[in-house]
Amino acid sequence: MKVYEKAPAKINLSLDVLYKREDGFHEVEMVMTMVDLADRIEMQELPRDTVIISSQAGYIPLDEKNLAFQAAKLIKERYDVRQGVYIHLDKHIPVAAGLAGGSSDAAATLRGLNRLWRLNIPADELQRLGAELGSDVPFCVTGGTAVARGRGEKLEPIESPPQCWVVLAKPPINVSTAEVYGKLNVRSIRRRPSTERVVEAIRLKRFDLLCQELGNVLEGVTMELYPEVRQLKECMLRMGAEGVLMSGSGPTVFGLVSKEAKVARIYNGLRGFCKDVYAVRLLT
Ligand code: ATP
Repeated sequence: MKVYEKAPAKINLSLDVLYKREDGFHEVEMVMTMVDLADRIEMQELPRDTVIISSQAGYIPLDEKNLAFQAAKLIKERYDVRQGVYIHLDKHIPVAAGLAGGSSDAAATLRGLNRLWRLNIPADELQRLGAELGSDVPFCVTGGTAVARGRGEKLEPIESPPQCWVVLAKPPINVSTAEVYGKLNVRSIRRRPSTERVVEAIRLKRFDLLCQELGNVLEGVTMELYPEVRQLKECMLRMGAEGVLMSGSGPTVFGLVSKEAKVARIYNGLRGFCKDVYAVRLLT
């Protein structure tokens, strides 16, 4: 038996950090949605009780450091599954990009193994398991569009944003999420996004308002460390993207574009100095 799952990338339409908690994590409030740029995960039963990971991408760990591997181990242990599985990750989402590629792979593995082994685990329980693997995994389990609070695990699903094009560009640098959060001084944040206004713009299907309200408090920190992220944002705005923001802790910057005619121009313009550029639709 074999099952397949799609693991889409997420973008943050807003990301606010409220305070640093006593457990060391940051209390966040963010609006997340998914885009049609996805890894494809194939899961095949193995006669031996083992977990094997492979991938065509040469740059991700294939051992216990891989989040899909950790997801398979977790589900096996909690549900006492004695079967093995071969997992192939067909990676398309750039790694360490702020697009939650690893988290989405882990979530897709949880969904896929739930089907493969007929475990009938309800979605909320899969989300709880996901929270043990990483803060973005619970959102990736169900996808859609949601406000995430807590560490990212408290989810409030909301309706989809107005449909549009999303141009994503990742400069060739690796950003450490831990370093960015470490350098963030919560008390000195001057401009915060308004979660409420982002949600309202989505509810009203007002693309123009949504573009105005995009905001990410980590953007300044990453831009300070890597000025090329700021240049990329300015460049996208100049080329005519209507709303531009860095996703997660970066370095990927995305631009929202309502008219298809503009997409090719922005895409081609960015390709001039950035290898990782994608033009996709929102997953609504
Ligand atoms: P987030 O936005 O959740 O911080 P990200 O998009 O910045 O995630 P990922 O692509 O998830 O980052 O990769 C972060 C790290 O996780 C990388 O250093 C990578 O080696 C490791 N990793 C573990 N499993 C995977 C996986 N299945 N795919 C990609 N990276 C993985």
